[in-house]
Amino acid sequence: MPLAKVDVVVLGAGIVGVSAALHLQARGRSVAIVDRSGAAASETSYGNTGIIQAEAVFPYTFPRKLGEIALAALNRDPRAHIRYSALPSIAPWLWRYFLASSPQNRIAIANAARPLNAAALPEHRAFAKAAGAEALLRDEGWIKVYRSERGRQAALAEIEELRPFGVASRVLDRAELAAMEPHLTEAAAGGVHFSEPATTSDPGALVKAYAALFRERGGRLLNGDARTLTTAADGWSVATAEGTLAAREAVVALGAWSSDVLVPLGYRFPLGVKRGYHMHYGAKGDAALSRPVLDAEYGYVLTPMTRGIRLTTGAEFARRDDKPSSAHLDRLEPVARTLFPLAERRQSEPWLGRRPCLPDMMPIIGPAPRHKSLWLDFGHHHLGLTLGPMSGRLLAEMMTGEKPSLDPRPFSAARFG
Ligand SMILES: Cc1cc2nc3c(=O)[nH]c(=O)nc-3n(C[C@H](O)[C@H](O)[C@H](O)COP(=O)(O)OP(=O)(O)OC[C@H]3O[C@@H](n4cnc5c(N)ncnc54)[C@H](O)[C@@H]3O)c2cc1C
Repeated sequence: MPLAKVDVVVLGAGIVGVSAALHLQARGRSVAIVDRSGAAASETSYGNTGIIQAEAVFPYTFPRKLGEIALAALNRDPRAHIRYSALPSIAPWLWRYFLASSPQNRIAIANAARPLNAAALPEHRAFAKAAGAEALLRDEGWIKVYRSERGRQAALAEIEELRPFGVASRVLDRAELAAMEPHLTEAAAGGVHFSEPATTSDPGALVKAYAALFRERGGRLLNGDARTLTTAADGWSVATAEGTLAAREAVVALGAWSSDVLVPLGYRFPLGVKRGYHMHYGAKGDAALSRPVLDAEYGYVLTPMTRGIRLTTGAEFARRDDKPSSAHLDRLEPVARTLFPLAERRQSEPWLGRRPCLPDMMPIIGPAPRHKSLWLDFGHHHLGLTLGPMSGRLLAEMMTGEKPSLDPRPFSAARFG
């Protein structure tokens, strides 16, 4: 006898799953979320950089120039870190990532993904307002800082590339940068201010607030292992700590763990993982930051968060379940100390998150190709916090037969055959 029967079970309570659940609920569906932690935002959605990147256009691509590849391969590019012992396992995925990163693809992906990125911020604002969580959002944008003339030239080139996409940005000289962020050191030669994106002082708290809204509206968040998902006579069933849940439809929103459920159902999507770390620090004296600052030449970000200044790293290429390593953070921390007067570490160990990445750096949003009542919403790479709410809208529109607010075809699972 099932514990309960709902219209939809959403597997995964990160930003992507919670957002899909809220949008389905708003369309009259009874919804339960199942997560193995029994809580929202217990993995990657908890500890990210907190930028709602409305300005995002171009995907993070695999380097294509020989010199850049060599630097990355030798772990000499601080923006990424390779765990060599993982290479035999992750090489096939890296190869697909390399192939998908051609200059032509980069432009095609930018054009295909832009409508989703551009619609992200209003969706967050609507959730945050309804959840009473607007205080967690800031409107000061974020700054990409450069240290050298080479960095400045790269920033100017990027702005030119972004111009046709209507992205608002302003180049800052040293004095303008100092006026906005007076505690950055002289190492910061200038920057680019992206004013449009909102940022959050606590991404985990933001997602938990959205999940609380889902509960207030009658939704249930249950503790359970999504790998127990099985087909039933009229849909799906999944085991939870409170008993078996039956659902007419199921949504896989398990981020980096989505394949754990999909492989047994016969789907082999090329889902890779770019891992990333964070550490919180105090600040010396009265030093403070007003917004996230990306050190462009080193690829880490310093963000003012409720727990202190959060340093987030770029990509670590490792197996999803490899033990955490402090190598990448240890390499970046001294560099960060030359940019801003960081004080003591506030955690004993770095936090580890897993960005779920498909080779083309676009999510899958839509129906599963071979199961009528199975839906997919995963692979949100570097932008899951940004894209979760809008992806949830798009998915819910497809599931309920509404006219989609934007063309869902670029995000179809069918692109992987
Ligand atoms: C260092 C770092 C910085 C980042 N900065 C940003 C940023 O500034 N802006 C941005 O937009 N994005 C950023 N991202 C990316 C973003 O955090 C992710 O894309 C996003 O959190 C993915 O959300 P998700 O809901 O798909 O996955 P997750 O948040 O990882 O959630 C997956 C959920 O599935 C659950 N789960 C797993 N296995 C099972 C199972 N067997 N049964 C039940 N439940 C299970 C987990 O408990 C978890 O709750 C960053 C990522 C990292 C690592």
